Amino acid sequence: MAVVDLTTFGANLYLLTGILVVLFFVVIPLALAMIVTLKWLRWRAVKKQADLEHDRKRFQPDGRHYPPLGRGLCDACHVADDEVFFLPSGQRLCHRCYPEPIDSPLPGQDTSVWKDPLESPSQGT
Ligand SMILES: [Zn+2]
Repeated sequence: MAVVDLTTFGANLYLLTGILVVLFFVVIPLALAMIVTLKWLRWRAVKKQADLEHDRKRFQPDGRHYPPLGRGLCDACHVADDEVFFLPSGQRLCHRCYPEPIDSPLPGQDTSVWKDPLESPSQGT
């Protein structure tokens, strides 16, 4: 029959209870708070990137809104497109023909391919 030292048993029980209390009231809440904070920081970065992308599609580089978009036929290149700008003048232009294209080339990229069809009539009529 094993002899139990009641003083050691009590001290061990007291220590075990203390460890459990610290675990439940300090370590676990701190870990949860850290996880929530990290997820929130990541969500904020993703949202900021999405907002920038959204604004880039809605606003021109000078800050003005792009004209309303819709499905239609471009007046300059006569190509049907899912996204055609309906200008206030009644003209419809696709992304390729609009003076400020949404996917504007990055600085340093070759821009010689694009030319403004409104300034130089290319239809030859
Ligand atoms: Zn076009």
